[in-house]
Amino acid sequence: MKSSLSARLAEAINNQINAELWSAYLYLSMSMDQEAKGNKGIANWFFIQFQEEQDHVRIFMNYLNSRGCEVKLLPIAEVKTEWESPLAAFEDTLAHEQKVTALINNLMNIAQEDKDYASISMLNWFVDEQVEEEENARDIIDVLDKISDNKFGLYSYDRELAARVYTTPSPLATAE
Ligand code: MG
Repeated sequence: MKSSLSARLAEAINNQINAELWSAYLYLSMSMDQEAKGNKGIANWFFIQFQEEQDHVRIFMNYLNSRGCEVKLLPIAEVKTEWESPLAAFEDTLAHEQKVTALINNLMNIAQEDKDYASISMLNWFVDEQVEEEENARDIIDVLDKISDNKFGLYSYDRELAARVYTTPSPLATAE
């Protein structure tokens, strides 16, 4: 199949697939760490985050395939396995999502330089998604900050985060 994307953009999206896989791995690690500490609701929240990152991978892979580009999977780097508190895990989450936002913005810059309108349209979903990702992390940090080391507060909030459910993102829901 002949690619209809610039080589530079195709490579940058291929690298983004690796970044999203690393994100998935990071959140799975956070989920397992919280599980080990008995915070099942927070573990659930991170597990859903892990699922969402795999969706991001699929969206980018589907896109490269639809533009006639080959996906080349790269090694996934090691992740941290333990956080000193739920707050520390969410602070790392926010910092990580801010980095991902910068990566998405960089992809958008390349797509705009290429005047590749299809890629701009695909990336718009990720631009909006990143606003939500950062907001979610910030909101949870605010609550955990208030709870501080109040054990009952953490117990109650953990039960609240247990209610988070997975939903298929719109780019995948319409593709099937
Ligand atoms: Mg992502």
